[in-house]
Amino acid sequence: MTTSPNSPFALVDIRGLHKSFGATEVLKGIDLQVGRKEVVSIIGKSGSGKSTLLRCINGLETFERGTLTVDGQALQHGDANAMRELRQQVGMIFQSFNLFPHLSAGRNVMLAPTLVKDLPKEEAKARAQALLERVGLGSLFDRMPDQLSGGQQQRVAIARALAMAPTVLLCDEITSALDPELVGEVLQVVEMLAVDGMTLILVTHEMAFARKVSDRVVFMHQGLIHEAGTPDEIFNRPQTPELRQFLSALR
Ligand code: ADP
Ligand code: MG
Repeated sequence: MTTSPNSPFALVDIRGLHKSFGATEVLKGIDLQVGRKEVVSIIGKSGSGKSTLLRCINGLETFERGTLTVDGQALQHGDANAMRELRQQVGMIFQSFNLFPHLSAGRNVMLAPTLVKDLPKEEAKARAQALLERVGLGSLFDRMPDQLSGGQQQRVAIARALAMAPTVLLCDEITSALDPELVGEVLQVVEMLAVDGMTLILVTHEMAFARKVSDRVVFMHQGLIHEAGTPDEIFNRPQTPELRQFLSALR
């Protein structure tokens, strides 16, 4: 929602990224710049490399070639300090909610800041409460994950990611495991974050949502960015047969 994606001050700057699993090249030279406060959605068929790209951005996967910088800091897998810093800067939320099952909602949100940032417990608790309120769960601090709906669990997962005050948040199909009636409450939280100016990179199958919240939409195909543009360009005026085919298969 601000800054040109190609500005030298891109928050996330990916150039020539190549990633293989064994003999299979999954990312074949990805170039992507995401500006501060920008919301970028990544769409594409299953297997096109979307999750692998997100996992590279937060350091969960190594890569063979190319560069990846977040807020000017190059990602270097050999450098433990740099990796720790990166993980704090880059939040990620997955399809499966992955809450710690033995901790209450509030404790899930408190955990990382108390461990990693050495925050006093009372302060961490107050912050966790505020974050739960932000995702609409202010009254559920003491609930255990198995007493929460899927949508509530995913909102706790969002609050937990926000607790580290990330500069960019990666969301990998975060509504795909939810019953349809619970999708809306999670998307609403993501939309609120977008409006508040959080930098977001979203892998999503929710095309109406992508169209509504994104500054830019990126179509991945066979390990490459095949087409990118505004939501209007991508959804209303697709240029390549591959994107046209992808979109028509959804209808
Ligand atoms: P998407 O998220 O677009 O569905 P992925 O990034 O998950 O795509 O996967 C891209 C390709 O990489 C797929 O062919 C997948 O099988 C392969 N792949 C992903 N993770 C691994 C892994 N850990 N080991 C081997 N192959 C993998
Ligand atoms: Mg995926």
